Amino acid sequence: MKITDHVYVVASGKLGFSFTHPLDCNVFLIDTGSGCIMIDSGVNLEPERIVNVIESHGFQPGDVKKLLLTHYHGDHAGGAAFFRNLSGCEVYAPAKEAEAIAAGDEDANSISLSKGGFYPSDYVFPKCPVTPLYEGESVTLGNVTMKGYVLPGHSLEDMVYHGKIDGKQCLFTGDGVFAAGQVLIQSLHDVSIYPYKIHMKKISELPIDALFPGHGVFCLENGGDHVKAAVAKFESGLIPSQLYYFV
Ligand SMILES: [Zn+2]
Repeated sequence: MKITDHVYVVASGKLGFSFTHPLDCNVFLIDTGSGCIMIDSGVNLEPERIVNVIESHGFQPGDVKKLLLTHYHGDHAGGAAFFRNLSGCEVYAPAKEAEAIAAGDEDANSISLSKGGFYPSDYVFPKCPVTPLYEGESVTLGNVTMKGYVLPGHSLEDMVYHGKIDGKQCLFTGDGVFAAGQVLIQSLHDVSIYPYKIHMKKISELPIDALFPGHGVFCLENGGDHVKAAVAKFESGLIPSQLYYFV
């Protein structure tokens, strides 16, 4: 689905627009004029459905030069090895989660807890070599530069990616924050609440027109209002509303 002149959503599961595997997150493709940046990679179940969408927009898998992962959960990072093998793209991930992705550590990313639940019982998270990204580091391809900011809370070190595309300030948030300021706090070992509040405030100070979350709807104008809604809830001493969620 083409959503701006140069941004496409090429995967989305049942917590979103339901046109690729039900467990896929929203996967975004940015056409930089010199190849594509992909944000997240889906769950790696029927990944050829994502390839079909990419091709339907006139791109080839080999056009994907850089893959930016927001965090190490399976629905976002499970497809990284598949797309790296297919396209030869360089894969980036938040530094504190990079080792677990490279090792396919299913305890670290809680997949071992979720088999037979959210994930099929025979689901395997494929290990994938990644380049670690640290707070404030950028990745550039063609005319697009995406800068990473950590937003720990949903997982150990979620990273959101900020940059200007088609004249709009864009923020790709993975599971860090969703439309209407919703969040997704699970009962997992790497969840943190107070750091989430502190870093959400930092993110809310970025200029944000378009907000592209990892599930649910995206917004093309006034995206910053959604982040500020999460901040307001945190600042009142509460936890923002949970993302609608079903398995
Ligand atoms: Zn997710």
